[in-house]
Amino acid sequence: MSDYNKNPSEHQARKRFGQNFLHDQNIIAKIIRAINPDKQQNIIEIGPGQGALSYPLLSELGHLDAIEIDRDLIHILNQQSPQYGELTIHEGDALKFDFKQLASSDNKCRVVGNLPYNISTPIIFHLLEFLDIIEDMHFMLQKEVVQRMSAEPGSKIYGRLSVMLQCYCEVDDLFDIPATAFNPPPKVISSLVRLVPRKKPLATLNNPQQFSRLVNRVFQQRRKTLRNTLKNFINTEQIEAVGISASARPETLSVSQFIELSNAIQTDIV
Ligand code: SAM
Repeated sequence: MSDYNKNPSEHQARKRFGQNFLHDQNIIAKIIRAINPDKQQNIIEIGPGQGALSYPLLSELGHLDAIEIDRDLIHILNQQSPQYGELTIHEGDALKFDFKQLASSDNKCRVVGNLPYNISTPIIFHLLEFLDIIEDMHFMLQKEVVQRMSAEPGSKIYGRLSVMLQCYCEVDDLFDIPATAFNPPPKVISSLVRLVPRKKPLATLNNPQQFSRLVNRVFQQRRKTLRNTLKNFINTEQIEAVGISASARPETLSVSQFIELSNAIQTDIV
């Protein structure tokens, strides 16, 4: 049974939940400034932990929704949060959370979080399903992941994550956060990234599922030419008809070119 007298300093960080708690007040203030919360906003925090970001957010907002998987932390948050505002905690897995419960296209949400590193990319892909109800997102992630998100064509780290995110969002790598800002300190440097769903798409995308399967497939074999990887789905002439060289490697294509290529492929990629 849980110890209900626990206070945050007694909570043992759980590795399986990716718990690295922010404790550096200057960094916390810098993150809150970057988020720039405002009273009427519908903000949802993923993984409030011990409240490092939640409490300053609550003080600004008066109310905050948060999704937390660790029951012991929920107990601590429920005890401490009322002095800052009204914290509504949704107990469970953010990977399965239906964000439509809390937002709509008329009442968009802003999503924030110092994400558990082990599942940060799956959480972001889950959120891509809800972009029509999201105003923006601010996440602390491993610096290396943020670099891949914002990578440009031609770079070694430009890949599935870069194309999928940049297709749907503007990606802004804001600043680095040293490992010493966390307790326990992670092994890597972190960065704060801002993702803003595009109001206007880069190009019309006919079939988002096909696009996702295309991007997946070509980057699984990133050293192969498009002609080779896609030979069962589109021929050389059809690739070149949209102005893309069939002998190009995937990392040289811009996001708009991926959209055009996806639109040109008539056979379902499996
Ligand atoms: N926001 C706090 C901070 O900055 O100090 C905690 C951040 S800690 C890196 C990640 C938080 O996400 C932890 O509170 C952890 O319990 C929670 N968490 C881990 N996996 C989760 C999941 N699948 N769904 C929701 N929360 C999760």
